[in-house]
Amino acid sequence: MLLLCSKCVSEYKNKKSGKVFYKVQVKDDGLYDFICDNGHNVKVMLHNKKYEILFDSGILAYFDGYYREAISSIATSFERFLEYCILIFIINLNNNYKYFYETWKYVSNSSERQLGAFYFLYLSCIKKSPPKFEKIEFRNKVIHKGYIPTKIETYDYIKYIYEVINKISKEILTNIDNQVIDKVIMISVAKQFIGVKKNEYYDGLLNNCFLSDIFVENPNESFEEKLKIFEGTLNK
Ligand SMILES: [Zn+2]
Repeated sequence: MLLLCSKCVSEYKNKKSGKVFYKVQVKDDGLYDFICDNGHNVKVMLHNKKYEILFDSGILAYFDGYYREAISSIATSFERFLEYCILIFIINLNNNYKYFYETWKYVSNSSERQLGAFYFLYLSCIKKSPPKFEKIEFRNKVIHKGYIPTKIETYDYIKYIYEVINKISKEILTNIDNQVIDKVIMISVAKQFIGVKKNEYYDGLLNNCFLSDIFVENPNESFEEKLKIFEGTLNK
């Protein structure tokens, strides 16, 4: 993943240096601390949601020809997306998330239970049947049975998951108050601060990920168009 050094950016403006992005190993807590090529100590808190990071990781694996890894990252991204939606539904219904993480522990090891929770909370908040998810068998074949998918199968899977995510987020944007979505964003950011030590300072950063606009203006581009744009940014 690429991260920006803001000090390099200001030096770049003064034409002192050309490089502003640096390759880093993706981390679970979103906290990055490294020395850039120009000697700046970069301390960045990446605010992108877990499902955004995982989806990008899946697409990068797809471009690199690692199709099993791509399916695995995209499937996990989808699960984390559903968790994010469940939190939106809970805040929408209760206006707080007091017992959410405590309760989540009961289902944290079972994606089937999480899916069940998602279906009925979706029904409660959106007042419609949720989309029925296909390709679960395919996902299990790849992840649990060691099946090595082809490039086309991988492409179809990523496209399918993207379109389901897009469909769900469209319904959420139409039926749920924006303030609820803002509150969930704030909760996610507040959770990141748990890992920060006293007197430590991190610059907040939001990378432009494949799914970043999903809860903002809901993209109108097709999957194919978005993939082309994404590929273009990689070659820059
Ligand atoms: Zn720098």
